Amino acid sequence: MDSKQDTDKKEIVLTGDRATGALHLGHYVGSLKQRVDLQAIHEQTILVADMQGLTDNAHNPRKVSSNILNVVADYLAVGIDPSKTTICLQSQLPALAELTMYYSNLVTISRLERNPTVKSEIQNKGFERSIPAGFLTYPISQAADITGFNATLVPVGDDQLPMLEQTNEIVRKVNTIAGRIVLNECRPLLSNASRLPSTDGKNKMSKSMSNAINLGATEKEISAAIKSIYTDPNHLRVEDPGNIKGNVVFTYLDAFHPDENYISQLKEHYQSGGLGDGTTKKILEECLQDMLRPIREKRTEFLHDKAQLVDILVKGSQISRDKTEKVLFDVKDIFGLNIL
Ligand code: ATP
Ligand code: MG
Repeated sequence: MDSKQDTDKKEIVLTGDRATGALHLGHYVGSLKQRVDLQAIHEQTILVADMQGLTDNAHNPRKVSSNILNVVADYLAVGIDPSKTTICLQSQLPALAELTMYYSNLVTISRLERNPTVKSEIQNKGFERSIPAGFLTYPISQAADITGFNATLVPVGDDQLPMLEQTNEIVRKVNTIAGRIVLNECRPLLSNASRLPSTDGKNKMSKSMSNAINLGATEKEISAAIKSIYTDPNHLRVEDPGNIKGNVVFTYLDAFHPDENYISQLKEHYQSGGLGDGTTKKILEECLQDMLRPIREKRTEFLHDKAQLVDILVKGSQISRDKTEKVLFDVKDIFGLNIL
């Protein structure tokens, strides 16, 4: 985290996750870890994006509704504290849907089609021939989420950078129409591991691609995932020099192992030969098992008390409703719509 810049002034932080599955290691390094640090310093809101989850799951809505509380349990298990961070549910904030409507008039279809993240998601989901309108336009709804809180700082993985770019374009258009600054531009906060790959190294780890190690993974699931992890395919004998580039074992060790010096010695050893993949996988397995055990245990405990999770969302959504209504009022004012 850029601590100088981030502690100088209190920022408004907005982040979120689609409620499309349990959270995974990619979320942990890509954004959850920063959120735990940020909640001590800034005014932070986390949005459980159920409406956005429906943009590609409307025909299977249980996938979204059944994951809302799982995501909240994941937050609490990694140390997000609802007394410091407001956790809210997107569908409980109608002002965000209204803002989306107003912003839709400021964005062209061709601009939406150029968004590189949406482009690759359309391919992955096989939407090339028939894209749901809500899916193509989800960057607009994300702009509504961010500006609805007038957020200035957004901790995200790098797949989200095009969304922040589109958000800032909308902000500039709104401010130009207003002739003054009504909405804040936001900046991303990227972690070192801003796009954690899946265990096969082919894609980013993602809920939708079923290629993730979840934060709630069992000991056996973690072991199985590490067994099948992509290493250096040309590293056939222990004594051979190995390649660490694209070797997912080392990508994960870099992201999760607490001892950087030890990992750089390990890399040297692997590259000069004499270190087998069995050994490096064992080191990774121990590291991930140790890291995920307490998270899994807490997560299970939180999921035993669903009423408490619902209560956190109800309270957080009440606070957020007030904030987003205020921004909606300001935006409607620009369009001259507060006449009644
Ligand atoms: P879906 O496949 O449903 O889109 P997802 O796994 O991509 O799910 P999101 O809810 O879309 O997760 O993303 C929530 C946040 O987590 C975003 O800020 C995103 O950048 C970050 N994130 C998701 N996957 C990764 C990853 N593999 N590495 C780093 N950050 C990630
Ligand atoms: Mg995603």
